Amino acid sequence: MNLQLQDKVILVTGGAKGIGAAIARSLANEAAKVIILDIDASAAQQLAAEITSARQTIETIVADLRAPETWSSSIQRTVERFGRLDVLINNAGVNDKVGLETGNSEKFLESLSKNLLHVYGMTHAALPHLKASQGSIVNIGSKIAFTGQGGTSGYAAAKGAITALTREWAAELLPYGIRVNTIVPAEVMTPLYERWLDTFPNPEQKLQTILDKIPLGKRMTRDLEIAALVAFLASPQAAHITAQHLFVDGGYVHLDRALT
Ligand code: NAP
Repeated sequence: MNLQLQDKVILVTGGAKGIGAAIARSLANEAAKVIILDIDASAAQQLAAEITSARQTIETIVADLRAPETWSSSIQRTVERFGRLDVLINNAGVNDKVGLETGNSEKFLESLSKNLLHVYGMTHAALPHLKASQGSIVNIGSKIAFTGQGGTSGYAAAKGAITALTREWAAELLPYGIRVNTIVPAEVMTPLYERWLDTFPNPEQKLQTILDKIPLGKRMTRDLEIAALVAFLASPQAAHITAQHLFVDGGYVHLDRALT
């Protein structure tokens, strides 16, 4: 299938590592013009060198999405560089364990700043350009919005809001032909996930407990398996898909626990 992504201009937040980097690689492979926005300058540089050496197009913006000025300036830079914006991928986020008992309202707001405010801010800033291109938006949510995890109120609230905004924005943006969808991962091995595992006394054992509960194949979802669906949703092949929450999780959220 030809995804017809050639020369589409696509901005990926948190695109230097983990799921975001896999998305950037997949889109660049489809000959899209990719912009990654990330706080990690050296990871961004490394990925850019890899993608450029494959004669594919990538630009990097090193910025912290917690800073509101980043939102319009990064969209501005993208449009100045490539003349348009076709797709916004709201991927950046961090499960920062701000719980009901362990946190406080200040930390809760900080968590929303890491996980939610930039999703609104980037989308708001991108809107005029997405209207012009009849573009689309792909968000990366989390299973936690559906299952809970305990001890992570800020992250759960942010991912829950992203889940709701998928339908809210899909409705509001219908007149412009802009599609909005969210991919819901559960367990994907990334630098963030490794850091999270390391917070447990025995990370290996914790990982095995999780793997045992993943119905399809008893394995983690691969970052490229998330990226493949992002590429499809971003493409004109998905022209009649909007307002969807798509789970790429080996059946983790929906299948009967008795099966595992
Ligand atoms: P990751 O390995 O930490 O990669 C995310 C990238 O985004 C990192 O380079 C990170 O930089 C950057 N970033 C984070 N906050 C940023 C900010 N404020 N401004 C700019 N860049 C920022 O994370 P991941 O596991 O790939 O997760 C990607 C998305 O998938 C997140 O929204 C996450 O919630 C979601 N998700 C992941 C899983 C999973 O199992 N991995 C499951 C469900 C949902 P630093 O490393 O320097 O912070």
